[in-house]
Amino acid sequence: MKINISDSEMVVMRAIWTLEQASVDQIACQIAASNDWSVATIKTLLGRLVKKEMLATTKSGRKFIYTPTMSECEAVGLMGQELLDKVCAKKHVDVLVNLIDDAKLTAENLQIIREALAEKTPACHVTCDCLEKFSACTCDHDHATDDMKVMEVIS
Ligand SMILES: [Zn+2]
Ligand SMILES: [Zn+2]
Repeated sequence: MKINISDSEMVVMRAIWTLEQASVDQIACQIAASNDWSVATIKTLLGRLVKKEMLATTKSGRKFIYTPTMSECEAVGLMGQELLDKVCAKKHVDVLVNLIDDAKLTAENLQIIREALAEKTPACHVTCDCLEKFSACTCDHDHATDDMKVMEVIS
């Protein structure tokens, strides 16, 4: 599943995750204080989020009730995956090291990361997938010889 949420849509999602489920009025109430958005704007954002299947609607009397189709945690996981999908497999390590560098992490947080690393099974070979993902390879290597090496490892 692809997740592609704009910053404004994320504000709406956050409000609904906090409320668990909400009508347009409740969402507007929650967001109005911090954002200068009209109800029409919020309705537009809700419409987009329904289209993107981030929200489901049910009718309660004359009002629509919006419910998230996934938890914030699941959504964040998908966003992380999407970030990795935008980068060659060979450069995933750089993305992760940069993220750890930039993140605010407590000693407990670092312990959780260490445990996750300890449980992670290493891949024996990471192949460049630049050409599958994009039309150009930005990795510093020769595709022909690298593919040969992989063939040798397999045979
Ligand atoms: Zn590559
Ligand atoms: Zn390549």
